[in-house]
Amino acid sequence: MKLVGLSIDVDSVASHLEGYGFDRPADDGAAYRAAVPRIMNILDSLKARATFFLIGDEARHHPEVVSRIVSRGHEVASHSMTHRLPFAQLTPLELRLEVRGSKLLLEGLAGRQIRGFRAPSWDGNQALLSELAKAGYQYDSSTYPSILQPLLRIAVARRSVSERDRVQQISWRSALGSTRPRVELADGQPIAEVPMCTTPLLRLPYYHTLRFALPNLAFGIIRALAHTRRKWVWYQLHAVDVLGLQEDGLDPRIARHPGMKWSLDKKLELLAKEVRALGRRGAVSPLNELVDASFGARLQATDQPSVERV
Ligand SMILES: [Zn+2]
Repeated sequence: MKLVGLSIDVDSVASHLEGYGFDRPADDGAAYRAAVPRIMNILDSLKARATFFLIGDEARHHPEVVSRIVSRGHEVASHSMTHRLPFAQLTPLELRLEVRGSKLLLEGLAGRQIRGFRAPSWDGNQALLSELAKAGYQYDSSTYPSILQPLLRIAVARRSVSERDRVQQISWRSALGSTRPRVELADGQPIAEVPMCTTPLLRLPYYHTLRFALPNLAFGIIRALAHTRRKWVWYQLHAVDVLGLQEDGLDPRIARHPGMKWSLDKKLELLAKEVRALGRRGAVSPLNELVDASFGARLQATDQPSVERV
């Protein structure tokens, strides 16, 4: 059966607030205490599995949740050590600590190899790819090849308390780059790059955050177009997409985030609906399984041409 991918960025409410320019408050723990179990219950009920991208410094406070993610058949991958922004502007040493520190820490918590990485705010570049390859990662999922990427970042900046910083995170290289999953060579090491899933031609992101901002019909068109991709259909969400502003007693400043005005029940229903729709296209699986199915042997070898595509 064809595999389709699903991934979840497990960012705390605190790290989202930092993304909106606030000084990072203490983590309320809701992402691990409430959101991850809710997502896993929905996935279990639909026989779906996924990749959970975890921030090392947050995951270390919830070792039992990390164990449960693994024991229920999901993949644990790295979403950096501290989720510092703007990630592409870290010094080489800071970048190395984020990449290697999170890998070591999460491997200790998960009890298995950490193979995938997603940069905070999809803020990846060639320096990151080289660092990941050297650290022994097998895939990166940090590029956002959609013209909507700069527009959505401007929208975030307009809701942010430090607009200029957020606008600096626009990456035209990523926005205009290839939409295809591929194997690249970084310092002689092969590493897979898995960009955000976008629709053919118009490059609209197939992305749950956008789901809250669009009418059903408009998002249904994006879903249908994304599902026409011949290979590699996958969907992306955030842990906060299943947190309720009132129900979970969240910091009221997070009300500016898409979907935060929705009731928790409605958000849970929406996620189940989207995972069910994805499941009609194939077996909903973690990204590492799609990487293995497409590129398995090539990631072991080193005598590759500079870029290979599917
Ligand atoms: Zn994040």
